[in-house]
Amino acid sequence: MKYIDEYRDKTLILKTADKIASISKKPITLMEVCGGHTMSIHKFGLGTILPENVNLISGPGCPVCVTSKNYIDKSIALSKLDDVIITTYGDLIRVPGSSSSLSQEKAIGADIRIVYSTIEALQTARDNPAKKIIFLGVGFETTAPTSAAAILTADKDKISNFSIFSAHKTMPHAMMALIDEGVMINGYICPGHVSVITGLGMYQPIVDKYKIGCVVSGFEPLDLMQSIYMLIDQYEKKIPKLENQYKRAVRPEGNKKAQSIMNEVFCPRDDWWRGLGIIPSSGLGINKKFSAYDTEKIFDIEVEEAKEHSGCICGSILKGLKKPIDCPLFSKICNPSNPVGACMVSSEGACAAYYKYH
Ligand code: SF4
Repeated sequence: MKYIDEYRDKTLILKTADKIASISKKPITLMEVCGGHTMSIHKFGLGTILPENVNLISGPGCPVCVTSKNYIDKSIALSKLDDVIITTYGDLIRVPGSSSSLSQEKAIGADIRIVYSTIEALQTARDNPAKKIIFLGVGFETTAPTSAAAILTADKDKISNFSIFSAHKTMPHAMMALIDEGVMINGYICPGHVSVITGLGMYQPIVDKYKIGCVVSGFEPLDLMQSIYMLIDQYEKKIPKLENQYKRAVRPEGNKKAQSIMNEVFCPRDDWWRGLGIIPSSGLGINKKFSAYDTEKIFDIEVEEAKEHSGCICGSILKGLKKPIDCPLFSKICNPSNPVGACMVSSEGACAAYYKYH
């Protein structure tokens, strides 16, 4: 298969659905960890062609969704400082903080700029030497290397007015935390983009310790159907293992260069995830060696403890315990134009996926 159409071939997809139906006997719950998978599953209606005993639940793999309100509040506080320019990817600016969002602050005059890469954020720093440029570093192993590369470039080119406010996180500890918390998961559809960077090894402890199958999956409907088939096959045969469905993109060893720059710039630290709370070693702080580019070391920003909206159940959705339609605010008060919680903002959020495709 070479072309995208083949991965969307209806005949092949339905054939795979038949194969799944023929082997799937026991009730099974599979979690798609990645927000990109969530979008594909709903966009292509995969849930509707699976047997009733196959339950797909979404996990904590939408980076904007798991980022704390406290981080948004601090970013807003930073945007109010003199001579500061905030640079960020687009999704984040609409995430509600405690009383405002970056987009609302931008509307009333804060210098907040959407960028499409850290290269653009660095260029903003070069173009504005009298200002302090902060890049909001949000995302998993997929985006963390680009933040690391930006810091290395700033260091090499002596761009002293650039820093990163890191909320970068890593996936495996969160996946294990969910199982430790008792969330019923019989198999993980593992994130494809993250695995391009990390390789496969980081999922092996999940298989070894918890006896839960892990299949790294691509994003097209046929990819996902094949991955679901592989996980059900493992489950029915009681042989949990680590498999790679996304071989055309993911190498077992991952991207060594990206791993190396990540390890040079970042170090693991405990981090807070919406719904999951603090997970040890699940976040990426900036190494001391690069503290000149660490927003948290340059600015002393304190904000009041953030409170989540009492009606929003994003936390339970990110743990796979509830679905967006279980939320009383879904589509009544909360929608993409007026998001109450982060899961409705991001293009990878489960609530946004449900709203768009159901
Ligand atoms: Fe939160 Fe809105 Fe999703 Fe409800 S529908 S869980 S309020 S984001």
